[in-house]
Amino acid sequence: MGLPFRIVLYAADEPHAGAAAAAAFHRIRQLNDIFSDYDDESELSRLSRTSGQGRPVPVSEDLRKVLRHAQEMSERSEGAFDVTVGPLVNLWRRARRQKQLPDPTLLAEALKSVGYRHVRLNPGNHAVELLAPKMRLDLGAIAKGYAIDEALKVLRKQGVTRVLVSGGGDLAVADPPPGSKGWRIEIAPLDIPNPPPARFVLIANRALATSGDVFQHVEINGVRYSHIVDPRTGIGLTDHSLVTVIARDCTTADALATAVSVLGPKAGLKLIETTKGAATHITRKPNSQIETAESSRFVRYCEQD
Ligand code: AMP
Ligand code: MG
Repeated sequence: MGLPFRIVLYAADEPHAGAAAAAAFHRIRQLNDIFSDYDDESELSRLSRTSGQGRPVPVSEDLRKVLRHAQEMSERSEGAFDVTVGPLVNLWRRARRQKQLPDPTLLAEALKSVGYRHVRLNPGNHAVELLAPKMRLDLGAIAKGYAIDEALKVLRKQGVTRVLVSGGGDLAVADPPPGSKGWRIEIAPLDIPNPPPARFVLIANRALATSGDVFQHVEINGVRYSHIVDPRTGIGLTDHSLVTVIARDCTTADALATAVSVLGPKAGLKLIETTKGAATHITRKPNSQIETAESSRFVRYCEQD
């Protein structure tokens, strides 16, 4: 997944802590081997190569679970979240290297291979069929959340309950550290001069994910384009936003944070309010004005003074 993972845990003794952490990291590596879109031999890359061949391909339980979750988020966000964006992401990666907007003809061509409805999950025999030619799946917006959830499961199985697992901007926590009510997490600030004051949340048995263009973007002709693309237009987001989502699991938080980034505050808040236990904090600077928005449940997680 191209980013470091970190585990913070409390255990009775060091050997136990070390063994539990090693088992969790092992699980993360295993998932990386399945989900990587950089590795041509990952299960995901091999599946992508079968697109348009008119045949269902058997997949592992992990890949099936992530794809099912992704498809559900695509439906719920009306296509704002879509793991078939691979061909678009490739074009934007190239745009970033060349500092030039993607060629409109190539963009139109890539859009033909994008669309979650081109993914058919076959519930009976655990197979997946990619219906359009030249499809390329990209799990960058959901796989790290899944890996964090799975690492947490391994740690719990090892008897570790007071633990935090993080990777990139996402994290999940189980029970709080001894003597405290929760894990204190700072909501990432927007990278602008004089950002609004830092906010903190206190969470236990929850996940938190952040999406935005702070670390990954390209500036072309004075416009800043995010690495998150709108699958419906093929264009990188330009509203300069940072979306934090709290949810019951990290797969959901990760996918929601990306979905809300694409949807924007109005439709994004609606999606959050209809997800059990979810909350969001959105900061944007679409023009010269900074805008913030919060869902109704967010205040519940805020640190009380
Ligand atoms: P995140 O940081 O979780 O928001 O994920 C961003 C990554 O997800 C990007 O680097 C792309 O690999 C991929 N991606 C970009 N746009 C979308 C989208 N609209 N839906 C799903 N994945 C996306
Ligand atoms: Mg995400």
